[in-house]
Parts: sequence; C-alpha cells; structure tokens
Amino acid sequence: MEKRILGRTGLEVSRIGFGAIPIMDKPEDFSIRLVQKAIDAGINYLDTARGYGDTEEKIGKAIKGRRDEVIIATKTPKRSYLEAKANIERSLRLLQMDTIDILQLHGVDDVETLNQVLGEQGAYRALLEARQEGKARFIGITGHNPSILTAAINRESFDLVLAKFSITDREADEVLFPSANDKGLGIAIMKSLDGGLMGIPGEAGRLEIGGESMSVAQGAVAFALSNRYAATVVVGLGSKKQLAEMVELENRKQSMDDGFAEKVATLAETIGKGFCLQCGYCKPYCPEGIDIPFVFKAQIYSEKFGMKRCTMWTPESIKQIVDKCTACGECLVGCPEKLTIPDRLRKSAEVFSQ
Ligand code: SF4
Ligand code: SF4
Repeated sequence: MEKRILGRTGLEVSRIGFGAIPIMDKPEDFSIRLVQKAIDAGINYLDTARGYGDTEEKIGKAIKGRRDEVIIATKTPKRSYLEAKANIERSLRLLQMDTIDILQLHGVDDVETLNQVLGEQGAYRALLEARQEGKARFIGITGHNPSILTAAINRESFDLVLAKFSITDREADEVLFPSANDKGLGIAIMKSLDGGLMGIPGEAGRLEIGGESMSVAQGAVAFALSNRYAATVVVGLGSKKQLAEMVELENRKQSMDDGFAEKVATLAETIGKGFCLQCGYCKPYCPEGIDIPFVFKAQIYSEKFGMKRCTMWTPESIKQIVDKCTACGECLVGCPEKLTIPDRLRKSAEVFSQ
C-alpha cells in the first residue's frame, strides 16, 4: 500500500488508516485477527482512543511482536492536566508499550473546551510532558470544528491534526488544512464516510464514476484520498469485507487521478438524499433538547456494525432520548434533507428494540 510522509513527524503512513471504533464491541479474537489482517495488507496507521471502549487493549494484543511495523495513534478525551496524565498512563498500559507514536487531544470542538485544554492546568500540558518524557513521540489534536482546530494550531505547537473531511463536509480544506500544511503539521482525515452514513450497503447501492464501478463507501473514501493535504484517511473497519473493500480501492490508483474529486463530488447530492448528514441544523429547533443526529448516527452504527451497545449508547439510553419526542414537528423546518424526523426517531427506537 502506498505510503505518505505525515508532515513534520516524518512518519511514513499508509494512505488508508485503520479506525478502531467498529471493533469496539466485536469479539476480541475477531478484532485481533482483523487488525493483523489490516497490517498484513499494508495498513500501518492504527487509530484508537481512550474513549473507544476496549480497542486500545485489542490493538495492544494484535501488534505483539509487530510493534515496529505500525504507527499507533491514540487520544485522551480528558480536559484537565491531571486527568489526561492518568489517561495517558492507562493507554500505555493497555497498548502494552512504553511510547505511543501519536498522542492527541480528543474532540476539541468549542472555545470553552479549547481554552480549558490549552490552559495552565489543561490536558495539553500532559501531552507536552508525555513527549518530553518519551511516552509519546508526537502530539496532535482532533475535532469536528475546523475553526476551533485552526485556532488551536495557531495558539500552540502540535505535530498533527486529525479532522473531518468528506463529500458532504469540506470545510477543513478551506483554512485548516492549508494552515496546518504551512506549519508543517501532519494531516489526517476522519469521518470520510460521514459517520458511517456513506458506507451503508444495499440501501445506497453502487456508483459509476469515470467508467468505474465502486461502492458508495469506496467513492466516499476515494474522495477523501484525493485531498492534496492529507497523508492518511482513517476509515473505521469492522469486517474483513470492509477491509478488502478499502484495500481494493487503494490499489485502484487510477481512481484518484486528477479530476476524480470533482467527479465524485457531484454524487454528494444523490448519495445524501434520504440520509441524516449529521449537520445538526435541526437541533436548535427542538424544545426537548433532543440530539437528533446522535440518535440517527447510533441507529446507523447499530444497523451497519451491529453496535447496539457501546460507551456512547445503549438500547435503553436511545429509548430514553426518543421517548422525549412529542412529535411536535418543530425540527422539520431546520432539516435541509427534509427528513421526517419524528417518524425516523421512532424507527430508530424500533431498531434498537429488535
Ligand atoms: S418532533 Fe421531536 S425531535 Fe422534533 S422538535 Fe419536536 S420533540 Fe424535538
Ligand atoms: S437537520 Fe436533518 S440532516 Fe441535519 S442533523 Fe438534523 S436530521 Fe440530520
């Protein structure tokens, strides 16, 4: 698999990275074999996080004896110095290593969190310390809000940024990626499948792009791979089929030729129809404060990866959220996709109750 240099880290990373979220609730033996298969296929960038259930532990076991073949990126969701410090120690224990390759602040999405993590008693200090002590080789930041990430890299020194970039959300490419590139940071992409929305087999079917037939998931990841700044695209992989699909895509070099991005971008409208695109525009309209995209995302993960229960949701917690919906319909005005939100929320609860 083709490798690229990850900015100032100098690390050579595979174009496709292994995102560990989907192995969260998979059996350990299966998860370990899948990670090893990915490494065998040439994927050397393994992305996990303290918040992704037992994935650090599974990856630690999967790479035993193969440490030199892989680059391990993990994240701490903690915001304070002391909590992050404890979190880093736990990651090191679970991953069974003395040094993490890339240690990141996880999900820094608003100004308050940014100020907290970069403050004197914030988590950033714990990352710096870990790097000084040799517990981390490089430090990075991740999030879903490009302007917050841009502010972060302008305020403090990071080695890497991991941000969302997809067919339906290209904002990171406007300011964040060029700025990060100018500063020499490594750039990694996540959420190219829009939180799994672009990888739904069957419902979305196959695409014809430039005379080539590919799955929606391949089209969405190919779009991210065509980004000129990013060294690697982290894709959540939860089955051998998904792994094979991505390896096959990466082998189709011609798919990423100039002009491919434009071709695939035109598919955004058709692919997007009928799916929640996680934009969140509906949320401010809901008097009950329901996190509508969260429920729809959980539904997709439940349907796609069989993740009915994880650290973020359980069938019971989804039912509790959905039960708050009074079917008032106020959210409908905010949805650019014209989704029948109250009906779909009820359907989500049904999916979880099966
Ligand atoms: S229909 Fe349900 S989700 Fe929509 S605004 Fe009303 S309570 Fe909120
Ligand atoms: S506005 Fe529509 S597409 Fe956007 S998050 Fe809400 S339900 Fe999803």
